[in-house]
Amino acid sequence: MNALSIRNLTKIYNNGFQALQGIDLDVQAGDFFALLGPNGAGKSTTIGIVSSLVTASGGDVTIFDYDLKKQRNQAKNCIGIVPQEVNFNQFETPRQIVLNQAGYYGMPRQEAIRRTEICLKQMDLWDKRNDVSRRLSGGMKRRLMIARAMVHAPKLLILDEPTAGVDIEIRRSMWEMMQEVNRQGTTIILTTHYLEEAESLCRNIAIINHGRIVEHSDMAGLLERL
Ligand code: ADP
Ligand code: ADP
Repeated sequence: MNALSIRNLTKIYNNGFQALQGIDLDVQAGDFFALLGPNGAGKSTTIGIVSSLVTASGGDVTIFDYDLKKQRNQAKNCIGIVPQEVNFNQFETPRQIVLNQAGYYGMPRQEAIRRTEICLKQMDLWDKRNDVSRRLSGGMKRRLMIARAMVHAPKLLILDEPTAGVDIEIRRSMWEMMQEVNRQGTTIILTTHYLEEAESLCRNIAIINHGRIVEHSDMAGLLERL
């Protein structure tokens, strides 16, 4: 079964710029998948469309058999998104931030409290649950974004450049946490412009450049050809 399949996806922004030129992509359920490409290649645009934040100009997106156009809510409930920029209210506590997200999915209160605890513990933030988020370190803020994205137990977690601008130690600890989440059965897609990051983590990879997929293969096969 595919967690994500994309067919002939195009995006032309309002200023006339064509950011996606007809993308095809398949990600199997359970995979740890990298979407690799330089800045400006179209990674965020692709993720934006998959997460319903950006409207496609053409093409089809299917998330666990749900058509994004026809079954948007079901499709959205299957995915958790970790954006590049910290975008939570930094005056709230980690607990509030994750609980609010559960509320956004309409989760009953007891379930929301239970899931919040699980996700904060999984991201090693339980001790910090009542601190003001503004005071958390950069690495903790990233992990809080992951905890928030997982509160509704999505089957597919998408991370946009999760380790951009964090130092090597934090990067390694985030890698381990993402691998553990994947081992527990969640499909993970991450975008990155570091081949090293993709190589360390991912089983399959697509390379995007100028809005086109230029490679789509397993990691071992790609590394042999490089
Ligand atoms: P859409 O075509 O999806 O409606 P718009 O073209 O209206 O999107 O742009 C959405 C937002 O992105 C605007 O606020 C715009 O300022 C911003 N934006 C414009 N150009 C860029 C760019 N090159 N990179 C990132 N954001 C941009
Ligand atoms: P990446 O995530 O790979 O760095 P993006 O998807 O952010 O790439 O951007 C792809 C291209 O689309 C870039 O050239 C970017 O400047 C352009 N772009 C992104 N958002 C907008 C927008 N809202 N309006 C116009 N151009 C945009």
